[in-house]
Amino acid sequence: MHVNFGGFVPISTVDWRGRAACTVFLRGCPARCFYCHNIAIHGGEDLRDADEIIAMIRSSRTVAGAVVFSGGEPTLQGPALVHLAAAARNMGLSVGLHTNGIFPRVLEDLIGRHLVEMIALDIKTTWERYDELLELTAADAVKQSLAVCKRAKADGSLGTCQAVVTLFRGREDDLPSIAEATQGLDLVLQQGVAAGFVPLTRQELEAVAASLGRKVRIRTREDGEVGYDPEQ
Ligand code: SF4
Repeated sequence: MHVNFGGFVPISTVDWRGRAACTVFLRGCPARCFYCHNIAIHGGEDLRDADEIIAMIRSSRTVAGAVVFSGGEPTLQGPALVHLAAAARNMGLSVGLHTNGIFPRVLEDLIGRHLVEMIALDIKTTWERYDELLELTAADAVKQSLAVCKRAKADGSLGTCQAVVTLFRGREDDLPSIAEATQGLDLVLQQGVAAGFVPLTRQELEAVAASLGRKVRIRTREDGEVGYDPEQ
């Protein structure tokens, strides 16, 4: 089996909070977010035998207890992702996944086979703006992925699920409806960074989060990831 490979980080402490993980980047993504920071692996081809990727993961086992699949969009390569995740689980590693949620059946498959313990699901904007932002018909698929994750979280078949929201200045009013849609999941507010936008500061993101009445995690370039609790 071949994998369209995007890169490998032998040890990371930022891709799965609280875990030391290696990270496999799978190349290719059908979306076109204007702020994409993984543009170098957004397209193109670097086909590798799956065994080569599995050997990379194995080489990290002495320092990493988990593997995170990221991208690009890893679920674009569903069969390869399932194959790599199964190999990692057989090594005794925990498996995490970063996804934009546009392939809900792959998520269902991974969860159904008990091949993933953490999913970080991007919820990029309100449902009304979704297709325009991604330049793709994606909203219904992402809604399905969200439902899959919520169900799995509720029945215990998925240990951790984060809804990751990249928030830009001027779109602060989108957050309440996104927060409502993601009840039951951990909510991460990520500072949107792109040319032509002044990024929201940590304090500004906290101010937006204050009205939600819910704990969130806030990620900025300045402070990394910190917790925010409106009760404190
Ligand atoms: S979904 Fe992720 S990888 Fe794909 S274009 Fe958007 S930011 Fe880039």
